[in-house]
Amino acid sequence: MSRVALVTGGSRGIGRGIVLSLAHAGHDVVVNYAGNVDAAKEVVAEVESLGRRALPVQADVSVAEDRARLLDETWAAFGRLDLLVSNAGVAPKVRADILEADEESFDRVIGINLKGPYFLIQSAANRLIAQPSDEAGTRPKIVIISSNSAYTASTNRGDYCVSKAGLAMTTQLFAARLAEHGINVYEIRPGIIATDMTDAVTAKYDDLIFHKGIQPIRRWGRPDDVGRAVVAIATDLFPHSTGQVIDVDGGFHMKTL
Ligand code: NAP
Repeated sequence: MSRVALVTGGSRGIGRGIVLSLAHAGHDVVVNYAGNVDAAKEVVAEVESLGRRALPVQADVSVAEDRARLLDETWAAFGRLDLLVSNAGVAPKVRADILEADEESFDRVIGINLKGPYFLIQSAANRLIAQPSDEAGTRPKIVIISSNSAYTASTNRGDYCVSKAGLAMTTQLFAARLAEHGINVYEIRPGIIATDMTDAVTAKYDDLIFHKGIQPIRRWGRPDDVGRAVVAIATDLFPHSTGQVIDVDGGFHMKTL
C-alpha cells in the first residue's frame, strides 16, 4: 500500500519541493493550495508523471470549514493519512516596523501561519489517533514547517516572527501529547530558500549570503533541501525522536566568531 501525505501550500515553493520529494519516495500526495489553481494543477501533473496519485484541494488553512473539508476530501480519496506536512504560510503584505505595524496584518499572518495550522493539526491528530497502523506497524507523522524566524528577530515583520515562534511551541505541545499514540511530530526550520516568498528580497539576501557571510554554507537553500529532510522523516529514519527541530538553513543557526 502506498503511503499518503498531505502537504498544505503544496502547490508552490517549499511545499512543491516537499510534494515532489515525497512523490519520488513513493508517496501519493494531497496538494493543498489557497487560490492559484494553475500552480496546483502543474504540480499534480508532475506527481502523476512519477506514477503516483495526487489530489489537488483548494482550502484556506485559516478557515475552519476549509480545514474540515480538506481532511474530509483526503480521507474520501485515500482512506488514510501517513504524513501531514503543515507548510502553508505567508509573509506580511508590507514589511512594517513593529512600532507602526497594524492589527489587520497581525490577524492575517497569525490566522494563516499559526491558528490555522494549530487547529488543522488538532483535527488531523484526532483522526490519526483512531487510524489503525499500516501493515508494517508504522504510525503517522506530523511535520511543521516553521522558520529561522522562530528565534530570529526581524523588527520589520514582527507578526511573522511571532507566528513562527508559536509554531515552535505547537510542535512541542503536539509532540508531547501524541507520543502515547505513536505519532511523532517534527519541526523543520528553513533558512533562506529561493521561492516566490523571497523573490522580492533577492538582492538583500544575496548580500547577506555571499558578502556578509551570515551562513557558513554560501548558497541559497532550495525547496528540495527541505523536501529531502521531510522524506527522511516520512521514511522512518527518526523513529525515536519527537518534538525535534531540524534546521535546513546552511548553518545559519550557529553563532560563529
Ligand atoms: P510561497 O512560495 O509563497 O508558497 C506558499 C504556498 O502556500 C502556496 O502553495 C500557496 O498557495 C499556499 N498558501 C498561502 N496561503 C495559504 C492559505 N491561507 N491556505 C492554504 N495554502 C496557502 O512560500 P514558501 O516560501 O514556499 O513558504 C512555505 C513555508 O515555508 C511558509 O510557511 C514560510 O513561512 C516558510 N518559510 C519560507 C522560507 C523561505 O525562505 N522561502 C524560509 C523559512 C520558512 P497559492 O499559490 O494558491 O496561494
